[in-house]
Amino acid sequence: MENEKSITSVLIVDDSPIIWLFLEQLFLSEGCDVVTAETGEEAVEYFKKRVFDVAFIDIRLTGMNGLETYKEMLKINPKTKAIMMTAYATDEIIDEAVKLGVVGCLRKPFGIDEALQSFNKLKK
Ligand SMILES: [Mg+2]
Repeated sequence: MENEKSITSVLIVDDSPIIWLFLEQLFLSEGCDVVTAETGEEAVEYFKKRVFDVAFIDIRLTGMNGLETYKEMLKINPKTKAIMMTAYATDEIIDEAVKLGVVGCLRKPFGIDEALQSFNKLKK
């Protein structure tokens, strides 16, 4: 594909181990360096310490929610590309996420195909 950017590092933020373990294995198999966080606060700390190409962020988290987490990431790196993940989000939350510049929203439950589609969107 033309102008496709390679993704070498991914930060996954989700309080559900079944989700982050699944995505971690998937992106490792895509050859990425993967870091996982279970809270937004933890994710922002990782973000301050190093650069990630992209982030997959759950909207519902304990403590700081996914949108707040993404806003903090944008303060650190305004070019941060992210996919939000949710089972519950209303259209308003998704609209707000899109206004903030997220690349897409991954609806739970999702499988390998949907996760890879989102991953590929981030390459554009
Ligand atoms: Mg959650």
